[in-house]
Amino acid sequence: MARLIFLGPPGAGKGTQAKLLAELLQVPHISTGDILRSALKAKTPLGQKAQAYMNAGELVPDDLILDLIRDRLNQQDANQGWILDGFPRNVSQASFLDTLLQELNQTCDFAINLEVPDEVLMARLLERAQKEGRSDDNEDTIRRRLEVYHNQTEPIIGFYRDRSVLTAINGDQPVESVTEYLKQLVCS
Ligand code: ADP
Repeated sequence: MARLIFLGPPGAGKGTQAKLLAELLQVPHISTGDILRSALKAKTPLGQKAQAYMNAGELVPDDLILDLIRDRLNQQDANQGWILDGFPRNVSQASFLDTLLQELNQTCDFAINLEVPDEVLMARLLERAQKEGRSDDNEDTIRRRLEVYHNQTEPIIGFYRDRSVLTAINGDQPVESVTEYLKQLVCS
């Protein structure tokens, strides 16, 4: 049983590590970015509403995200643990999650903050832009996403520090080293 939240800026490696750890722990990997990108691709109402925000590097409005998280955490497979990646991303999402977890009688075991300097993030995201062609991976949008991270997401780090579940990890090292550290953390 493990319940983990991945915090950290865009490009920090949350998705990569969350996926690996989810397989190891046999719990669902819940990535709001992945959910939104599938919705966008399938042109669902959610995708259509989210598209302009995502392409501008802005957060999608909370009303589109909160129901989605409530539904997902209420699904059967999430009762034995989960890894959240990309949620919560601002103070109101963090307090929503807090209330939701109380309702579900669950607590978060770890909030993992992957720390990576902005210039490394910028270089990684520009490289990803070339490889994967994500529509929100161009230079202006990346800059905006980093700004949004510092303004809106970074303030929630203190929220988890106060609850004594925060662990900071240097994300500016090889993928395998980060994975190794995480395995030791959650399996010890
Ligand atoms: P990144 O690793 O670049 O942060 P994500 O895949 O997590 O990328 O998110 C991509 C985009 O999806 C964000 O820039 C934002 O527009 C939207 N998004 C993802 N999660 C959330 C969330 N919890 N709240 C609001 N918007 C979100």
